[in-house]
Amino acid sequence: MSAHVLVLGGTGEARALAAALDSRPGTRVTTSLAGRVGRPRALPGEVRVGGFGGVPGLAAWLREHQVRAVLDATHPFAAAITGNAARAAALTGVPLVVLRRPGWRPGPGDRWHPVPSLDAAADLLPRLGRRVFLTTGRLGLAAFAHLTELHFLVRSVEAPEPPVPPHTHTLTARGPFTPGEETALLRDHRIDVLVTKDSGGEATAAKLTAARELGLPVVVVRRPPLPRGVTAVPDVAAALDRLRTVLPEG
Ligand code: NAP
Repeated sequence: MSAHVLVLGGTGEARALAAALDSRPGTRVTTSLAGRVGRPRALPGEVRVGGFGGVPGLAAWLREHQVRAVLDATHPFAAAITGNAARAAALTGVPLVVLRRPGWRPGPGDRWHPVPSLDAAADLLPRLGRRVFLTTGRLGLAAFAHLTELHFLVRSVEAPEPPVPPHTHTLTARGPFTPGEETALLRDHRIDVLVTKDSGGEATAAKLTAARELGLPVVVVRRPPLPRGVTAVPDVAAALDRLRTVLPEG
């Protein structure tokens, strides 16, 4: 019988893991998506969509589908599902591997302002600029909705839902973007401050290069911590290596 691996997805790394596992003899892979994006791209292997119903729901799913290992490759800011995965894995005894790409590091010339939350970013913004490029995702815009004096350029994969700031221009686009494209965008929209989560990774890092080139301040929202006792691996290769240690025959 093939070993069933559940990949908690929604990232490029999860897609790469699904592809690697789908082509591995003796392994069956299911990717789980939250269902936030209306039309996700096709994925190798099986796909299920929607929440599990908290820790009990996830634990029940693992048992019912005879999952041999869980690979959490969700976004570094998806803290609830990572916490649930840790607890459900502990409850069921199913091994858990957590992939968390490293955060970004400021380099020479960067003007970064680290903050602990979207609310803290909103508090700081009026002191840094008037025309904001906001790349924190369409679900976090409510934190900025009271900033009626500022102009926002918002970029997300799908159109945001209210509440949003009154002066908002929306771009729906999916990365990756090049530094040249990002510099042109910042110039065209006369942006004077950028807000980003510390997502890490290459796919969305070009905006940071562009901000550095233009000398713009960047408000960087720090990551939520990993659940207590959980250690993460930094990339797809390390996740597959760790998985081999829990699925030796895979
Ligand atoms: P979250 O706050 O950690 O999770 C909220 C709830 O959504 C979870 O309790 C779970 O519901 C459900 N959920 C989340 N990820 C799931 C998954 N992969 N499969 C099944 N259910 C899932 O998550 P989030 O920050 O809203 O992110 C949702 C998804 O978008 C994740 O898959 C993440 O990888 C992806 N994503 C997030 C961001 C970001 O900035 N947060 C950016 C890019 C992609 P139940 O408790 O009912 O199981």
